[in-house]
Amino acid sequence: MADYNVKERSQWCPGCGNFAIAGAIRGALAELGIAPHQAVISSGIGCSGKMPHYVNCYGFETLHGRTLAVASGIKLANNRLTVVAVGGDGDGYGIGSAHFIHIMRRNYDLTYIVHDNQIYGLTTGQASPTSQLGMKTKTTPFGVVETPFNPIATAITGGATFVARAFAGDMAHLKEMMKQAIVHRGFALVDVFQPCVTFNKLNTYEFFTKRVYKLEDQNPKHETGNRTQALAKAFESFDTDFEKLPIGVFYKVEKPTYEDTLPQIKDKALVEHELNNIDVSQAYEDMM
Ligand code: SF4
Ligand code: MG
Repeated sequence: MADYNVKERSQWCPGCGNFAIAGAIRGALAELGIAPHQAVISSGIGCSGKMPHYVNCYGFETLHGRTLAVASGIKLANNRLTVVAVGGDGDGYGIGSAHFIHIMRRNYDLTYIVHDNQIYGLTTGQASPTSQLGMKTKTTPFGVVETPFNPIATAITGGATFVARAFAGDMAHLKEMMKQAIVHRGFALVDVFQPCVTFNKLNTYEFFTKRVYKLEDQNPKHETGNRTQALAKAFESFDTDFEKLPIGVFYKVEKPTYEDTLPQIKDKALVEHELNNIDVSQAYEDMM
């Protein structure tokens, strides 16, 4: 089995949920038999942004909120690669939210893992788009007054073809969600409840352990192909004032990927095309 471990010492705070996410990514890629030279991880800025340093494969740490833009570019250049984009809730649902919306409707064959700790961690504790109503932070001393962003409902309605949530306190389940997301052909979101032990004193391991339950254990069974049912589950945390937090696969459908629709890369990755006999001089002239 491939070894995705690295020797670099982590810069994350002891006890941070990011360790479980890194371990689950390494384990998922190794257990799926993907060779490290065929995998790429992109990241934005924030504590999650350090992920490419801690997984032994190709990596690209880009600008704040731009992980999906870079990941889709990598995929277009070489659609044979397994591409995993990681980001945070501030990074991906705030600064990078426009990329999130538009990449989903294209259905690139990408996996997007969001370290959702409901706070800006790297900048030391400001309210993020997913911070709960009433939560006191450095920027909201009297409590958050905005309705939190709902990434699961946004992904289901936005065109993502695999939508899941996991909890960093349950690593076996987290790794399983990542494996399913990576194997899925199409845009796959795994939103991860990731306790920030240093700056978020509300959404702790204990908070989540008391409230999370698995969709796959439901009786009657949760139907992942049923959009109405998936949306009802996506709103459950909001409807119960964050007392009931479903994790697992909310929604999954099969659709052609963006890459499937491009004749230029259908049979051959862009990087494998012969470039010597391509003349762009006329196009250059036309633009002058
Ligand atoms: Fe983790 Fe929070 Fe520390 Fe960042 S600040 S490494 S999210 S515990
Ligand atoms: Mg965050």
